[in-house]
Amino acid sequence: MMKRLTAIALAFAFSFLSAGALASQQSWLNESIGEMEEALVVEYGEEQRARVQKGLAQIADFWRVEDGDREHFESFVVRNFAGDQATLDEMFTRYEKLMEQLDGHLLEILISFREQSDLDIGPILPFDEVFAAYDPFAHIGDDFFANKLAFIVLLNFPITTLDERLTEGENWTRRQWAETRLAGRFSRRVPADVQQAVTTADAVTSQYIAEYNIWMHHLLTDEGERLFPEGMKLLSHWNLRDEIKANYGNPDNGLDKQRMIQKVMERIIDQSIPAVVVDNPHVDWDPYANSVRAAAVSDVDEPAPDDLAITDAREPDTRYEVLLGRFKAERMVDQYSPTAPSRIARSFNENRELPEERVVEMFEAVLSSPLLARTAKLVEKRLGRPLQPFDIWYNGFRSAGTYSEAQLSVMTKARYPTPAAYEADIPNLLVGLGFEERRAKELAANIVVDPARGSGHAWGASMRDAKAHLRTRVGADGMDYKGYNIAVHEMGHNVEQTISLNDIDHYMLQGVPNTAFTEALAFVFQARDLELLGLESPDEEALAMRALDDYWGAAEIGAVALVDIGVWHWMYDNPEATPAELKAATLDIARDVWNRYFAEIYGVEDVTLLGVYSHMINRAIYLPDYPIGAMISRQIEEHLTDAGDLGAEFERMCLAGSISPDLWMQKATGAPVGPEALLNAADRALDRLE
Ligand SMILES: [Zn+2]
Repeated sequence: MMKRLTAIALAFAFSFLSAGALASQQSWLNESIGEMEEALVVEYGEEQRARVQKGLAQIADFWRVEDGDREHFESFVVRNFAGDQATLDEMFTRYEKLMEQLDGHLLEILISFREQSDLDIGPILPFDEVFAAYDPFAHIGDDFFANKLAFIVLLNFPITTLDERLTEGENWTRRQWAETRLAGRFSRRVPADVQQAVTTADAVTSQYIAEYNIWMHHLLTDEGERLFPEGMKLLSHWNLRDEIKANYGNPDNGLDKQRMIQKVMERIIDQSIPAVVVDNPHVDWDPYANSVRAAAVSDVDEPAPDDLAITDAREPDTRYEVLLGRFKAERMVDQYSPTAPSRIARSFNENRELPEERVVEMFEAVLSSPLLARTAKLVEKRLGRPLQPFDIWYNGFRSAGTYSEAQLSVMTKARYPTPAAYEADIPNLLVGLGFEERRAKELAANIVVDPARGSGHAWGASMRDAKAHLRTRVGADGMDYKGYNIAVHEMGHNVEQTISLNDIDHYMLQGVPNTAFTEALAFVFQARDLELLGLESPDEEALAMRALDDYWGAAEIGAVALVDIGVWHWMYDNPEATPAELKAATLDIARDVWNRYFAEIYGVEDVTLLGVYSHMINRAIYLPDYPIGAMISRQIEEHLTDAGDLGAEFERMCLAGSISPDLWMQKATGAPVGPEALLNAADRALDRLE
């Protein structure tokens, strides 16, 4: 069923490739731009020429036939070009104020609409789900181009390239940064039908991933043995990987299970997996011999369907077909995104604002460091056996700690029987972290604690009058340790969100450069959760183990990210590729990255495991965020440990706002984003533990 839906949805996505005709394809535009430039320079003076040229070029990039003819275009330009500083200041100030109103109120609507679904406050009725799915921001981009508020921004404020932000940004005023953020909101105008194609391709890949379960009890060894318990259903790749991790503590058959999962993963990656075993509890599968038969035992209630055809026909490269669908949808966006005309450029230059070459260099520095072989030796020693390829997911550096989770839960439940109890304690917690008492109270007054239905999350506000929401699970008998640990993490988000919105100098600069930064700041709080309970903080040995765990994990996910990046380049180089060709290329790239960094250490070549991540299929170059996040987190943590005075330093960092990541990090810690802190910490840890 899954596959039929895929084919239909993809056919739908590419049945319409028409899009709004760009005015740049019209003859009058170039002539008009030349005339308007002269007219505006005559009116406002030669010193405005550069601004005039830039503004006209920017609106020409997006002007479509439906936006008006030559006469409309020219009268729009004359009416809306702010040719003197006073008018420009007024325009900027009002836009900034009104954008805050727009974002702020729409976000309040969104949060309210999702409240019943997000919070543990009673049953969800069918209409609640419709409210929760409603996105009040969905049409803002279209509206603002249609009513030309976006064109006014583009006529007056410069869209900048990443290169300009990196080379000149250091010397910009805060106002210039704020202007570049305002213009950046309108750097692309994607027609509704193209946007729809992206949404559809996205839904197809997400559904493909969401249903890709392996029924573990139905995996057979070559002796016909079942290693996994009844009813165990693992989603690729997350649950499969986590099951490998969970078996490090299993001396009985942990290694056999880990090996079998590796085999399953390899068959998913190279698509030799029999199609019939995917999400199907009615067949038994020996992944080594790759043979399938009707399930000899049942661990589900429903019987096998009568028409179940059991064959070992392999999955027909669907994994790569849906990835190609995603790629083709992104390619349609390219021509409407003049400053970042590829998914790769959008991912690095716009979303992340770190150049791809630098990101790749940072990953290579982590992977080619001699520390990796040193750490591997230690892993091998701790395991008491030679490394296996799946040991890229070794998690034995996580120490158990002095207190059990159950002991900690007794403490947290007594302290926090309700969300209100936690909310009331926030000022004390912030003082405990190093904020001054008066400031701790101010920040706490801006945070509301709600009972989450699922796991925790934090909603910052988008306007200064609104509050930040801290959501975590609170059981009937109080907040257990897991809920508390999450609450402290989310509190870190809320404090960052509050400072970087309420105390920032320009609304357009609110926030942090990207999600890796807000996560890193939240981890600063989370890492101190035991201290806040009045318990001893982790000792030197535990900290050293944590540093190695971070490094080992960053190396693994860094290698995975290199595969992700490599695959997208290959697709752009081979846009007409078939799913089979994309599969072959992905396998080559995965083997190549493995051979470069891991083959010698693991004593085995041509492993394909780095190609297993589901994000590669449904998240389009998202994976690099993880290793970058690990580096940023370590940089910030290290700086705060050295600087002391956590409250004041945290506040100072947050006030940099959403400037470029390197500039933010430079201001915060004195160095741009980089792997050095992560590597240095691993080096010190190895000295201690070897
Ligand atoms: Zn978080």
